[in-house]
Amino acid sequence: MNASKILVVGAGVFGTSAALELRLRGHSVTLMDPGPLPHPEASSTDVSKIIRADYGADTFYARFAHDCIPAWRRWNSKAGRTFYHETGFLLLAGEEMRPGGFEHDSHEVMTSLGQDVERMDGGRLRRRFPAWTSGRYPDGYFNPNAGWAESGNVVAWLLTLARKEGVVLREGERMEALLEEGSRVAGVVTDRGVEHRSDIVVVAAGAWTPTLLPWMGEALRCVGQPVYHFKPADPEPYRPDRFPPWAADIANTGWYGFPAQSDGTVKIANHGRGFPVDPRGKKVVPDEVDQWFSEFLTETFPGLAGSPIVRRRLCLYCDSWDGDFWIDWDPDHEGLLVATGGSGHGFKFAPLIGSVISDRIEGKANPWESRFRWRTLGKRRTEAARME
Ligand SMILES: Cc1cc2nc3c(=O)[nH]c(=O)nc-3n(C[C@H](O)[C@H](O)[C@H](O)COP(=O)(O)OP(=O)(O)OC[C@H]3O[C@@H](n4cnc5c(N)ncnc54)[C@H](O)[C@@H]3O)c2cc1C
Repeated sequence: MNASKILVVGAGVFGTSAALELRLRGHSVTLMDPGPLPHPEASSTDVSKIIRADYGADTFYARFAHDCIPAWRRWNSKAGRTFYHETGFLLLAGEEMRPGGFEHDSHEVMTSLGQDVERMDGGRLRRRFPAWTSGRYPDGYFNPNAGWAESGNVVAWLLTLARKEGVVLREGERMEALLEEGSRVAGVVTDRGVEHRSDIVVVAAGAWTPTLLPWMGEALRCVGQPVYHFKPADPEPYRPDRFPPWAADIANTGWYGFPAQSDGTVKIANHGRGFPVDPRGKKVVPDEVDQWFSEFLTETFPGLAGSPIVRRRLCLYCDSWDGDFWIDWDPDHEGLLVATGGSGHGFKFAPLIGSVISDRIEGKANPWESRFRWRTLGKRRTEAARME
């Protein structure tokens, strides 16, 4: 493909990694975002995201994530600092693991991929990871080839690389509408009425995408998911060697969490049905959610239950109807490629997602793009770790 003028809308992890990769392939690239960057409301912007290949029976995402883990290690080397903390990941079941269960099937797939995972029963769990005292999770396993990434810092680093490589960053500009000439998209118009012309527009605006491209409103929706940060008086039991990132019967309960940050705060969140949100409005955690967290902590981590909440956030997912990402040309708008639909599980693919998007643009084969193609609605399903 000849070098093109490409405008990428949205500087979260999808947009920024695509902009960087496209620039490295010789295209002239502009990246636009209202900012400040990394945008505080972007899904990608947070202190941490879990990096795991454990995906139930879904071998597509398991293999894709499995390929990303060495790429995360390479990013650490390239950056000369640790963005990806390979602390391992604890996947716990609410009962004995059985075929068809998320933990059982993840265990099978991980073993088949040669991962040296460590089976956990209740006693072993308490001995290895003493904060887990409740007995509520009698089975599961620890996967050492996993961990968490400093997601906001990763995006900031990618933005620095992108700038250095010559991506033009339009921070502080917001796409209002596509600039359409007949059936062709010729660029975008900002909310201040400025036109930016390009050969190709990539809309990677995460949860804002269905608002910007309203015809996608059936396939994509914005939901808010609660994320809480607690400050225990004694953070030692929650340090990474004793308290790696975890998911507790996640397909049924939605609960997952992270080790203490260096400031002693512990992040716990729920990956569930979520709350419908207008991404342009206020994102307020509904009142009842404090009670959910309180009940979960009282049962699972009594030591954390009374700890002050230092931050609560309703974080936005861009859910696709089937939980798969959405990376393809819009069949009705020539020159427009949509790259979104992270559906609450997209960050771990950061090291390879820019290539997936760029290959789609350049018409090159990519081993991972098949599930992300334009598709019609079908029976609603969701990512396997997610309660419906
Ligand atoms: C609470 C939570 C927990 C998660 N946990 C994990 C996890 O543990 N592991 C994992 O792998 N994934 C996780 N994810 C999913 C992951 O974070 C997302 O899939 C990924 O970050 C999506 O990136 P994105 O670039 O598509 O969207 P975003 O990061 O939201 O970026 C979209 C960008 O578009 C910009 N934008 C919006 N409107 C406009 C406009 N009009 N013009 C220009 N720009 C615009 C925004 O400012 C923003 O910067 C989680 C997500 C959330 C919310």
